Amino acid sequence: KYVRRPLIAGNWKMNMDHVQGITLLQKLAWTLDDNKHDYERVEVAVFPPFTDIRGVQTLIAGDDLEIVYGGQDLSPNDSGAYTGDISGQFLDRLGCTYVLVGHSERRTVHQESDELLRSKVDAAYRHGLVPVLCVGEGLEVRQAGTHVEHTLEQLRADLDGLDAEKAAELVVAYEPVWAIGTGEVAGPEDAQEMCAALRAEIEKLYDADTASKVRLLYGGSVKAANAASILRERDVDGVLVGGASLDAGEFANIVRFEH
Ligand code: PEP
Repeated sequence: KYVRRPLIAGNWKMNMDHVQGITLLQKLAWTLDDNKHDYERVEVAVFPPFTDIRGVQTLIAGDDLEIVYGGQDLSPNDSGAYTGDISGQFLDRLGCTYVLVGHSERRTVHQESDELLRSKVDAAYRHGLVPVLCVGEGLEVRQAGTHVEHTLEQLRADLDGLDAEKAAELVVAYEPVWAIGTGEVAGPEDAQEMCAALRAEIEKLYDADTASKVRLLYGGSVKAANAASILRERDVDGVLVGGASLDAGEFANIVRFEH
């Protein structure tokens, strides 16, 4: 099934200070090591708070771990008078592979617009970071039945004019807002429906080759108990995990979804 390397990603959100973050990552690495996890087969990424990243980098480099990591957000600008913002350049210097763009909590709490997110996508590529672009509908849109159109509209706006070579590297996470941190999980068939629609839209915007390369994740109350059934779906290439990524054992069991 896996034409694309599955990506299991943990978004720690604003949890785990720099000491707790290291403990969590150490436990995760030990568990995966005990399980002889094959990172070539399934990629493992964590998204710690900015203040943890230096420590994460040191631990990963020091212990030669194959876990990769990224920032939870980035500025559309590279440097200057933007108090409180973090440049993609800084994330790159800290060895980040990925960066989340447009997580629903950024879209709602910080009112991030698609126009802003479009420039964040550019900023990520400018600094060699792979954007994990988060899209997905809220409960009202889902109930109105317009969730596919809504989510594709976000995708088109956030990628507007991006060239095919860059698009092929992209990761897109479908995260229905009503399923984030709520315990409500979209069914595997809901995840598949949206991921198939996203892939078809990428093919329309670019071509079949690009669409076959983009990795599509599902996110929203993923746990070890439901991960395998979601990851079995044809167009789902991974999961973005919030709450359950804060428990090393639980997250390791999600990584081991094939077992
Ligand atoms: C997330 O933060 O992207 C997420 C999906 O959270 P949770 O798994 O807690 O629903």
